[in-house]
This record gives sequence, C-alpha cells and structure tokens, in this order.
Amino acid sequence: MSSKALADSTYTDLKDLVSKLGQPAFRAGQIMEWVFKAYELNPDRMLNLPVKLRGELKTRLICASSRLKEISRAGDKTTKLLISLADGEAVEMVIIPARDRVTFCLSTQLGCPVGCYFCASGAGGLVRNLEAYEIIEQLYHGIAHLGRLPDNIVFMGIGEALLNFDKLAAALRIICHADYIGMSPRRITISTSGYVPGIYRLIELGRPFILAVSLHAVDDETRAGLIPEKLRYPIAEILRACDDYETEIGRMVTFEYTLLAGINDSAAAAEKLAAMARKHHAKINLIPYNETGKEFKRPPEIDILNFRDILERAGVTVMLRLEKGGKVAAACGQLRAQHLKKAIDK
Ligand code: SAH
Ligand code: SF4
Repeated sequence: MSSKALADSTYTDLKDLVSKLGQPAFRAGQIMEWVFKAYELNPDRMLNLPVKLRGELKTRLICASSRLKEISRAGDKTTKLLISLADGEAVEMVIIPARDRVTFCLSTQLGCPVGCYFCASGAGGLVRNLEAYEIIEQLYHGIAHLGRLPDNIVFMGIGEALLNFDKLAAALRIICHADYIGMSPRRITISTSGYVPGIYRLIELGRPFILAVSLHAVDDETRAGLIPEKLRYPIAEILRACDDYETEIGRMVTFEYTLLAGINDSAAAAEKLAAMARKHHAKINLIPYNETGKEFKRPPEIDILNFRDILERAGVTVMLRLEKGGKVAAACGQLRAQHLKKAIDK
C-alpha cells in the first residue's frame, strides 16, 4: 500500500497524481475541494470525479485510514471519540462545548514517552508517533460528529506534541493554510510538558499558535516528583523559552497546573505561581487532578478555589473547570487506557 495519504496531500501532490493518471489538472482542484472544504475522505462520494479516477485514488492513496469505534459522553456535554487506526491501535479525540464555542482536543502520539507519574497516557510509554494524516483525521471525525469545524483546537490529548514535531507541523500546515482547511493559528493551542527544544522549533515556525506549558510545580524538586528525569527540563530553562516565545511570536503563554492534593496545592505554591505568572505574562490553566487510580489525589474543592482566588487576587488570569471525574479534556488518555485494559483482560 502507498504511504501517501489523502488527508495530508498537498495541491502539488494531487496535481502530480492526476497528471500521472492522464487527467486534467482541474481534477486536483476538485479533489482539494472535497477533502479540505467538504471534509470528505471517501473517493466514492466525490461524485463529480470520473468513476475510474475515484478507483485510482483509492488504490494509490491512504484515504480514510481510521474509523470511529466508540463514542462516550460525559454529563457536561463533553464527548470523547475513540478512533481505530489502520494498525489496530486506538486514539482518542474529545469534543468540548463551552458557551457558544466548541473546542476539539486532539492527540499526537500513541502513548507518551514523557511518562508523567500521574498521567494515564504516559503509563505504557510511547507506542508510536501519529502520522500527520492520522492527526488530521481526528479533526475530521470531530467535524462529522459536530457538523462543522470547531472554533478552537487544543493539542492536549494523548502524547507530547513537540516530540512528534515534524508530523505535528505537517498537520498544522494543512489545518491552517487558507487553501486547505484554513483555521486560524490563533485558535490553536499546543500543550507541552515543557520540552524546551520543541518550544524553540515552534518559535521557528513563526505562526501565532498559543503555547501552553505544563508547569505543575513552582520548584524543580516538586516537579521531579511528577515528571521523570529523562525528558524533564529545569523550570528556569522552560521560563526562558516561554519568554522567548512571547517576544518572538507576540502571544501570551499559558501555564498549565494540574492540582494534586498535598503536592502542589498549598497557598505558598499559589503565591509563588502568581509571581511567576506575572513576571512572565502568563495566564494560568488550573486543572484539578482527575483521579486515574494512581496514588495521586484531587484536592478538595475548597482548596482548589482558594488556590484560584490567590492567583486572581494577584491579578493573574485563571481558567478553571470544575467538573469531576472523566469529564474534562485532561481525562484524555483514559478512554484509550480503558480500551487497552479491556483488550488485555479478554
Ligand atoms: N503532553 C502534553 C499535553 C497532554 S496532557 C502535556 O503534558 O502538556 C494535557 C494536560 O492535562 C497536561 O497539563 C497534563 O499534565 C494534564 N493531565 C494529564 N493527566 C491528567 C489527569 N489525570 N488529571 C488532570 N490533568 C491531567
Ligand atoms: Fe505525556 Fe502530557 Fe501525560 Fe506527561 S502529562 S505523560 S507529557 S501526555
């Protein structure tokens, strides 16, 4: 089977292909319309193409490589789609409506090489990177469910996006370019565990993506209890990279802070985090821990609210979603984990 896929084909790729097949160049434009404006990956439904060309597309390109396997809904309208990939693996994307906007949370890897001790995604290490088309197809499954493009995309699903940089960048080119899907980079957030070389590569792209950095701690010692050493960078280096991001890209960075009872939820930590956020012009995304059966615990609601209030009193912009257990994007990874467990238990 060819390794070139429809979902990440460029206009040049398609022009070359149709010309090889003895078809006029305008056919490439028609295919572009179907794939990137009608979000259609099945050549059989591209009714203005000759039947023979539809057949050729199917044999020469990976068309719809993935399929929807399971939909699970949480009480607050969040929907998770479990998606089967061609090799039998599964990945998940989450649809999160909030007021008048809908956000899609996408995954970039199968498993995760960072292996944060509290995270379901990292528990089994990295299985493999996702291809650019597998990232784009998650978006398409979400569009099929929602009936339109999302307002925002966050790369906060399974995996460390910046460790699959080339595939992420290829997917983003298609997602953001006006001739392709055409979403604004300003509506796309890339979340990283603080992989500093990746932040600099993102700066090199020069597009106004929102950078979200999972800080989780205000000192390196506490952070060392959350993220294994192998891919962990010192907080000072991460903050320098965030400053460089803001200077070069001109966008405020977000610090993500997963609140873990008795570990990073003290008033003193909140004060320190507030000072850090002010100094580095960052917003804070507070994520109350969603318990995944590990030794970590979610703080009581009162502590979560106190933590938030300290930040707000210091003039910091804070985002906090309080839904419990399995209902937020932070739970991404758990559906795949359950699926794997079921497969093992069988
Ligand atoms: N790998 C990236 C993005 C994926 S996780 C990163 O680490 O930033 C998105 C966010 O959810 C991260 O801040 C991550 O630390 C957090 N997270 C992971 N598992 C969680 C859980 N069980 N409860 C709450 N937050 C969690
Ligand atoms: Fe990977 Fe992010 Fe989970 Fe850490 S929190 S293991 S970086 S997905």
